[in-house]
Amino acid sequence: MQRTLILLKPDAVQKKICGKVITRFEDAGFLIRGCKMIHLDPDILHEHYAHIADKPFYPEVEEFMSSTPVIALVLEGDGIVEKMRDMLGVTDSTKAAPGTIRAELGVDVMFNVAHASDSLETAEKEVKRFFQDDELFQYDVKSVEELKSTR
Ligand code: ADP
Repeated sequence: MQRTLILLKPDAVQKKICGKVITRFEDAGFLIRGCKMIHLDPDILHEHYAHIADKPFYPEVEEFMSSTPVIALVLEGDGIVEKMRDMLGVTDSTKAAPGTIRAELGVDVMFNVAHASDSLETAEKEVKRFFQDDELFQYDVKSVEELKSTR
C-alpha cells in the first residue's frame, strides 16, 4: 500500500473547503493515517520547495504558504501517489482538467488548494519531513457491525 503527503494550502483553509477536499479523498477510498494543522516556517518551506527555490516566484510562494496554518495529511491507498496527482490536476488551476480538485476549487497557479507528493520516492521523504513516527496511525478498517461488537 502506498502513502502520500498532502498539504491543504492556505487558500483551502481560508475558503473553508478543507472538509470538502478531505471528503473527496475519503470517497476515493483513501485512508487517513495522519492529520495535523501546522504553521510552515521558511526553513521547512525552503526544504520542501527546494526544486523551485531559485524561481523568481518563490518568495511569493513562501509568503503564501506561511500566511496561515495548513492541514497536513498522510493518506494511504492503492497506487495513491499517481491517483492523487490525477485527482488534483495540473499546477495551474485554470488549466486543470474538468472534475479535478484544482479545476473545481482552485484559483490560479499559486492558490491551487493542495500539495500532493509527485512520486513514491518523494512521498517517503515528505511523510518523514512532516510527521514523526508516533503521529502516524495503523488501524484496521471496520464495518459498523464490527465496530458495534467492540462496545
Ligand atoms: P505542484 O504543486 O503541482 O507539484 P510545483 O512543485 O511545480 O507544482 O510548484 C510548487 C507550488 O509552487 C505550486 O503548487 C504553486 O503553489 C506554486 N507555483 C508553481 N508555479 C508557480 C508560478 N509560476 N507562480 C506562482 N506560484 C507557482
